[in-house]
Amino acid sequence: MSSTTCNIRVIARFRPLNDREKQMKENKNVLAFPDENSVVVEKNPPFTFDRVFPPESTQDEVFEYVEDTITDVLGGFNTTIFCYGQTGSGKSHTMFGSGDKSDTAGWGIIPRSNLLMFSTIDQQDQIGEISIKCSFLEIYMENIQDLLNPKKDPKTIKIRESKTLGIYVEGLEEEYVQDENDIMELIAIGESSRSVAKTNMNQKSSRSHSILIIQIEQKSPDGSVKRGKLNLVDLAGSEKVSKTGAEGQTLEEAKKINQSLSLLGNCIHALTDSKREHIPFRDSKLTRLLQDSLGGNTKTTLIITGSPHYSNVDETLSTLKFGSRAKTIKNTVKVNQQ
Ligand code: ADP
Ligand code: MG
Repeated sequence: MSSTTCNIRVIARFRPLNDREKQMKENKNVLAFPDENSVVVEKNPPFTFDRVFPPESTQDEVFEYVEDTITDVLGGFNTTIFCYGQTGSGKSHTMFGSGDKSDTAGWGIIPRSNLLMFSTIDQQDQIGEISIKCSFLEIYMENIQDLLNPKKDPKTIKIRESKTLGIYVEGLEEEYVQDENDIMELIAIGESSRSVAKTNMNQKSSRSHSILIIQIEQKSPDGSVKRGKLNLVDLAGSEKVSKTGAEGQTLEEAKKINQSLSLLGNCIHALTDSKREHIPFRDSKLTRLLQDSLGGNTKTTLIITGSPHYSNVDETLSTLKFGSRAKTIKNTVKVNQQ
């Protein structure tokens, strides 16, 4: 099967000012959007991405831009969508959605992907068999927790690598699903087991990285098998502990989160430095799990998220620099067919 090379696709999304930011006096909004591919922060040169979504953008518009991922995964590609940004910048809003679940306009990429996947399958003239299975994990304090079976001992969950499967997680619960409601139910179960704590920045700030893994296997009547994998990743946010008021356990969690994100930054640096041969993927669980998505056999979309407010300008600039680097990473992808 022939392979092709493609860059990581990078999208920048900015949320509206929140109530706290609106109440602060000066320099409310420090962003300008000269066109749909760039964003300007104060006097800095423009940052250019595959697409930039200003604060007024809807969940619908964002999904419309990334929905080709579903065609790709059904076509037998490995695919990843992940969000990176400061705590409270809109990562979970973008991936899961926020607000009343019955209000479908607020749905994020995960429920929309799920819906589109099953409606596309229903419309296909399905010849052969299709099976879809789901796992849902979080990385909390450098341990992998099975969100579909929270009682499972993290020590029994191992990251493995094989020629045909690439990087995969052994020991996770894998649930077969028949329709979109099955996945929604699994997500609800998983979400209720996630580690969340209150910080000043974001009341429901998530303290862990989560990955929803959907694996689709399609058997044709001629016996060939096509396998696509969709990783939907909601990272925990980087945060300045001085700003969030974290202490005790919350401080320890913040340190681990910041450490794993800085190790992710190290991998991105190494990947974009032509002189570096060793990429330190094995330095953390997160980077190891994202290894195939960064320079491997995966069509990857990175969504960087930020606040438009002056008080967050340092974090926003660092997020934009992360996105600019990631944009130059090349993945070599092929359809997984046997
Ligand atoms: P993160 O996951 O990056 O820590 P969240 O997604 O939880 O941040 O967002 C923080 C708060 O901002 C939430 O209350 C969320 O509903 C709100 N928010 C984030 N992005 C948007 C957006 N694009 N439009 C409206 N509200 C948003
Ligand atoms: Mg979050």
